[in-house]
Amino acid sequence: MVSGDWKVAASNAAIFTSVVPVSSIIVAAILLNEKIQLSHLLGMSLIVCGILIAIQKPRANPTEIDSSIASWPFLCLSRKKFIIKKKLQLSKGTRTMANQNNFRETKSSSEIKALKAILSVYIILCLIIAGLNFGYVSRATPEVAAFITWLWGFYENWIKTIFIVLGSFLTLRIIGSSQRTVMRKRNLTGFIVMALVVHILGPIILDNQELYFFAMPLPWTTIPLQLMDPGTAFYLKYLPIFGLTGISLALLFYLIVTIVVLVGTLLLGRRWQCSTLCLFNGFASEVFDPVMPLLGPRKKVKAPGLKLFSILRWLFLVIAVGFTAYWVLYLLGLPMINSDAVAKIETYKYLSAELLMAMFFWVVFSGRGYCYYCPLGTVVGLLGKLVGQKITADQSNCIQCGHCNATCPMAIDLKTSAATGRAVSELRCVGCGHCVDSCPTETLAYSTQFLEFLKNKKK
Ligand code: SF4
Ligand code: SF4
Ligand code: SF4
Repeated sequence: MVSGDWKVAASNAAIFTSVVPVSSIIVAAILLNEKIQLSHLLGMSLIVCGILIAIQKPRANPTEIDSSIASWPFLCLSRKKFIIKKKLQLSKGTRTMANQNNFRETKSSSEIKALKAILSVYIILCLIIAGLNFGYVSRATPEVAAFITWLWGFYENWIKTIFIVLGSFLTLRIIGSSQRTVMRKRNLTGFIVMALVVHILGPIILDNQELYFFAMPLPWTTIPLQLMDPGTAFYLKYLPIFGLTGISLALLFYLIVTIVVLVGTLLLGRRWQCSTLCLFNGFASEVFDPVMPLLGPRKKVKAPGLKLFSILRWLFLVIAVGFTAYWVLYLLGLPMINSDAVAKIETYKYLSAELLMAMFFWVVFSGRGYCYYCPLGTVVGLLGKLVGQKITADQSNCIQCGHCNATCPMAIDLKTSAATGRAVSELRCVGCGHCVDSCPTETLAYSTQFLEFLKNKKK
């Protein structure tokens, strides 16, 4: 981004920040009445500012200042001019083999720097606040404990959503300079909508700052199940905060999210959860994709690594199913070992093998590292296979450039399949569509039985 972009963005931000809080107060007061707090208004204003800045039309000429809000880039579906230009470059032999880091070289480093800064702040804040929340709250005075809990909720809900909006904008600018962004725009739109529902609207409407616990279906976490028994430490901790009605509403939200994830996956494949809804690792992998890993070049997983991840995948699924089975049997009233101890073990497993490992992968490996062995990912992957999820290839179009392989975050070999016209149906495919976007000849397409049915119906 050239310096003029930042000036335009800053001036618009100044205008919006003076207008948005006032309109937010009016709208919020009408819609939500007494549930509105100052932090809601502040966060809401920042998010609206971020969205307004993000939807500015990219300038055709970098020297021309365009301060209008003229297009909605997340929904823009076609870049024909871009494809024609790329085809011309290919035919002239000027295009070099793509590599996963090519946009790092072709795009202004200020956008890369800004995205890296956001990701770094996100990780550092997460480590500090999670450390305080899980390690210090139990020993702190009630006032300090209440402040840390508030801070955790504010970070998890508002800061995260703001970062998702700003990060999406930057990522589209960076990626869009070297390839199509059709699938990415859909992915990022999904994550923004999900963040607004789970982190902003849901908590305000249900008056529950920890609603995100209930946005991940089984077997990823059993936390919601613990709220079904008045004897668990989790229930006793949250009863005074949520109240009985709050607990029922949180469980209802959890049921709705589970149904939405399952039904959506049966129609659209693993893409629905892993590249549109997931606010654990899916959003981070997509929103910060151009700068992952933070340190060093992106690593490609080779055969031994894939084998190790495959073992971890089934191991973590067995562990997750084990925890789920424990809580189901416990809730059915069977005599079981101490539930508090089991809940603690699951919390430590989450902190060490999931949260910390996911961030470790962001820093040194790739955004999707955790997705290789996530238990929920394995379940939706199996469902995806059941409903015919695949990447189809038009053999006659393929020029064997290798861009698809270079951009796939799950180390799937699409190039070889495209050479023979064979569709790719891999359990670990997260359906991100990076391969589809990166193909200069539009050879690849993401598909499921339902999507094929819709396509045939249109013909
Ligand atoms: S594999 Fe798991 S963590 Fe990764 S996007 Fe899917 S549900 Fe989220
Ligand atoms: S499918 Fe597309 S991106 Fe992959 S090798 Fe063929 S032309 Fe290149
Ligand atoms: S095969 Fe394509 S859709 Fe699947 S993970 Fe790789 S890039 Fe994403």
